[in-house]
Amino acid sequence: MKIARLFAHRVELPLIEGSYKWSGGKSVSVFDSTLVGVETECGLTGYGEVCPLGPFYLPAYAEGVRAGLRELGPHLLGMDPRELGKLNVRMDAALKGHPYVKSGIDIACWDLLGKAAELPVCVLMGGRFGESVRLYRAISQIEPDRMAENVAGYRDQGYTRFQLKVGGDPDTDIQRIRAARAVLQPTDRLVADANTGWTQHEAMRVVRAVHDLDVYIEQPCLSYQECLAVRRNTSHPFVLDENIDSLDMLLQAKSDLAMDVVNLKISKLGGLTKAKQARDLCVSMGIAMTLEDSWGGDVTTAAIAHLAHSTPEPFRFTSTDFNSYVTVSTAEGAPKRQDGMMAASSEPGLGVTPKWEVLGPRVVEIA
Ligand SMILES: [Mg+2]
Repeated sequence: MKIARLFAHRVELPLIEGSYKWSGGKSVSVFDSTLVGVETECGLTGYGEVCPLGPFYLPAYAEGVRAGLRELGPHLLGMDPRELGKLNVRMDAALKGHPYVKSGIDIACWDLLGKAAELPVCVLMGGRFGESVRLYRAISQIEPDRMAENVAGYRDQGYTRFQLKVGGDPDTDIQRIRAARAVLQPTDRLVADANTGWTQHEAMRVVRAVHDLDVYIEQPCLSYQECLAVRRNTSHPFVLDENIDSLDMLLQAKSDLAMDVVNLKISKLGGLTKAKQARDLCVSMGIAMTLEDSWGGDVTTAAIAHLAHSTPEPFRFTSTDFNSYVTVSTAEGAPKRQDGMMAASSEPGLGVTPKWEVLGPRVVEIA
């Protein structure tokens, strides 16, 4: 089996809520996503997706995905897409860094491996643990009372895990956390995700002001050292996200006991192969995970479902059904949320088929 063609389609994913806002006044109203296809000589095609959270969240941007595919694609023609280790070595040799560029290709090759083996990706990634995967709902940053209303509304839809977008004015953020916690039951989990938005002293004020509440604190500050200082001065369960972008950082954080939960995003790490490596390491080290991506639609949600469903249940903190945040469905067969849970497809590969009429013309083609 040989790669004969790589291609990509750009697709816009407008948000159902109109916009998504997080720390530092950052917001997105229409996501710019790239669907990646890898086609073999024998006519099988695998699909992946990469959708950065705008150009200002991680060092990644939508047009960079397409530019990177044009750079990387010619190096991959003729390779066997089922040999994912070799594929990743070649990608890393041909293009230094830029993990998000490689992510869509790697996901598409896992889809091909599954189709060739006639097995779902989750089975190939370790096996299907349990019936379904628990989801969190991200609560866009607005006024405290309206955020609490949104938490209550999404709770009515079946979610039991909530990630509040804070990282704004610390006094308002304290109100946001208090208002949201007040509408939840004791068994619900609340995460206050500052997305690097607080300085160290602001983070210290917030964690002290909510010390009596059951709330997780996620990535309060920009640097790892600042987060570690906050971590060492709070009893709240602690999540790291933006700082953990490599195995080196994961091992460093484990060694420093810097977190209780880590947020692993597929494109932040460079695809399912590298996410699986980090995931397996976390399981061995006893660290629970939020398994997700930066953003995406149906194909990203399918990839998340397979990664999460193949993770032992005690280590699955939460995952995300990004396809339920946007107005456009780009593929058949993607997971659909039910009572705050989703499941990986039992079809071969990722189990998704693109809706070409939604995707529009090809913007990258390498053959
Ligand atoms: Mg986060």
